[in-house]
Amino acid sequence: MSATRIDGKQIAKEVRDDIQREISARGAKDVPGLAVILVGEDPASQVYVRNKRKMCEAVGIYAEEYQLPENTSEDKVIKQVESLNQDPKIHGILVQLPLPKQINTRRVLDTVSPDKDVDGFHYMNVGKLVANRPGFVSCTPLGIIALLDRSKIKIEGANAVVVGRSDIVGKPVALLLLHRHATVTLSHSRTRDLAAVCREADILIAAIGKPQFITKDMVKPGATVIDVGINRLPDGRLVGDVDFDPVSEIAGAMTPVPGGVGPMTIAMLLSNTLQSLKFTEKRGR
Ligand code: NDP
Repeated sequence: MSATRIDGKQIAKEVRDDIQREISARGAKDVPGLAVILVGEDPASQVYVRNKRKMCEAVGIYAEEYQLPENTSEDKVIKQVESLNQDPKIHGILVQLPLPKQINTRRVLDTVSPDKDVDGFHYMNVGKLVANRPGFVSCTPLGIIALLDRSKIKIEGANAVVVGRSDIVGKPVALLLLHRHATVTLSHSRTRDLAAVCREADILIAAIGKPQFITKDMVKPGATVIDVGINRLPDGRLVGDVDFDPVSEIAGAMTPVPGGVGPMTIAMLLSNTLQSLKFTEKRGR
């Protein structure tokens, strides 16, 4: 392997250490609080929620967890969110996705107060991101930018190609890169000659959800490759959207899976929760 490995696990730890230091310096009366709502018994979601709680506690964020049964009505989830919107101890509200079928996810997400929307999914925060105004940005895209910054990868002026245009990864990371003055191409399943588009990238971000989709012939020598994908192979192995070993022979720097973007997502959730407390103080409440 010739590419430098971007160690997301280590960088996420550094971010968490910074957050912990800042929270402990603020003293006991200014504690950020995060509430997580989980509806149903999806085992993967239960693991995510447990991890989020553990990480919160480790950095000094107060955490509350609401586990509601699978058959909970939409109105009940909305009432729970509304009650947390009013709770002064809580600065961030996270609704763990996916929600069960009987619940309209968009309606629930848009009930979260935009001031406590630490996942950045509320349409007002999406609008603020488009307009490049302060607000909450979803955690995975923020984590990608933090990985680039902390690895001293220059964004300004770079050709950045994002593969995947989802609302939670592709679109917001493309906007963040644009606001940082990269020249951005946002590509997707209808893009013509994707390999040629990708070969133009100084920074290539793969957020597709297809195992080992980005092959060596799609990567410009020396490029930085950020792999967002998390895919389970039939043999149980976890791989990204990038064909890691061959691509690492040609890339300049790249993230592994696991241990790349994944750990940064939770670190950015903690960061957004602390940021929310600071926004609250600024508003004088
Ligand atoms: P979505 O399924 O919502 O979006 C996938 C995107 O990939 C779509 O825009 C789709 O294009 C595009 N795509 C699919 N096939 C192709 C193709 N053949 N060529 C070009 N583009 C293609 O996925 P997400 O954005 O939610 O997630 C992407 C991956 O990232 C998943 O593996 C997910 O598990 C992982 N993930 C990881 C996180 C982390 O913390 N590390 C957090 C969030 C996600 P089109 O729009 O045209 O259909």
